[in-house]
Amino acid sequence: MSGSTVTPWVIGNWKMNPVQADAQQLIQEFKELLQNNDISEQACRIGVAPVSIALMNVKAAFENAASPVHTVAQDVSRIAGTGAYTGEVSAELLKDSQIQLVLVGHSERREIFADSPQILCEKVKNALNAGLTVVYCIGESLEQRDAGQAEQVVLQQICDIAPVVEAEQWKQIIVAYEPIWAIGTGKTASPEDAQSMHAAIREGLKQLTPYGQQMAILYGGSVKPENAVELAACPDINGALVGGASLNAGSFYKIAQAFAETE
Ligand code: PEP
Repeated sequence: MSGSTVTPWVIGNWKMNPVQADAQQLIQEFKELLQNNDISEQACRIGVAPVSIALMNVKAAFENAASPVHTVAQDVSRIAGTGAYTGEVSAELLKDSQIQLVLVGHSERREIFADSPQILCEKVKNALNAGLTVVYCIGESLEQRDAGQAEQVVLQQICDIAPVVEAEQWKQIIVAYEPIWAIGTGKTASPEDAQSMHAAIREGLKQLTPYGQQMAILYGGSVKPENAVELAACPDINGALVGGASLNAGSFYKIAQAFAETE
């Protein structure tokens, strides 16, 4: 475990990738790695977030894996239930398909698809009320960091959702800190900077909920095997949200292993 009592999570965000044949190969290779050397759920929990049309196939493909691999939705509708909402997938429909986790607030959703704090509150509320676990993504831009506002921005993003989270529902939230300038750029926050932000997030969470000390806070932003061990050693970094490197079975496995093995 990563230096704390929180069991880490390593989640691969496949974004709008890959085509089906490549996804099947990626899954097969990852399952073979787990077959040779499994990773127990007590050491590190693993998830992958494919495109929505692939959720059920990916879930089925991982069913006989040597270690559990959770299937994670990349987004959820702001509308609850069922009805005439073309193109949307609600939290209840995810739950009905046995999908237990969902990303909400990824910076690409915030920036490209205009997911505002108001919309994110609706998504978080629906997901929590349907019983899903929310991987709530937060992070500052380079301009905000350079202006010395990183911590304030990130803590505000947590406070944004607080009004819709009921006391017991904080247990259903995983926070993913992803500085926007580090996503897909090859730049990673130094372990010291990442740990310092994670510690501030931990303090912010503790002020909002008694569960703050036990909540997993993942780091995301160009995580790869080369930097995973150092990140995993930080006491308040309880796992990783991995984009690019999750599309390579060997790299993704090594990252999960780094978090599983770090004491
Ligand atoms: C992400 O999109 O969540 C991410 C962290 O991407 P990458 O690992 O490619 O920076």
